[in-house]
Amino acid sequence: MGSGCGSMRSGQEVVDHVKSKGKENFPPRVAHVIECECGHSFTMETVIMNCPSCEMTFAVTPCSSGDINNIKVAGIKYA
Ligand SMILES: [Zn+2]
Repeated sequence: MGSGCGSMRSGQEVVDHVKSKGKENFPPRVAHVIECECGHSFTMETVIMNCPSCEMTFAVTPCSSGDINNIKVAGIKYA
């Protein structure tokens, strides 16, 4: 896919890709509400964000961030 937009399989790949572009603090196109597996809900304010409760890392590429289905889990404190 070249640009890597929406084509990544794992959350870790998304984190590494977004960080390599220096875009980890970019806001997503839509401020999705994430329901973490720990039971905590929070608003996705940046394209890479840890759950405030359990520190699970969630990640999405800026260009695919309009769809909540593109948000991936990368693991506890991956970012
Ligand atoms: Zn959590």
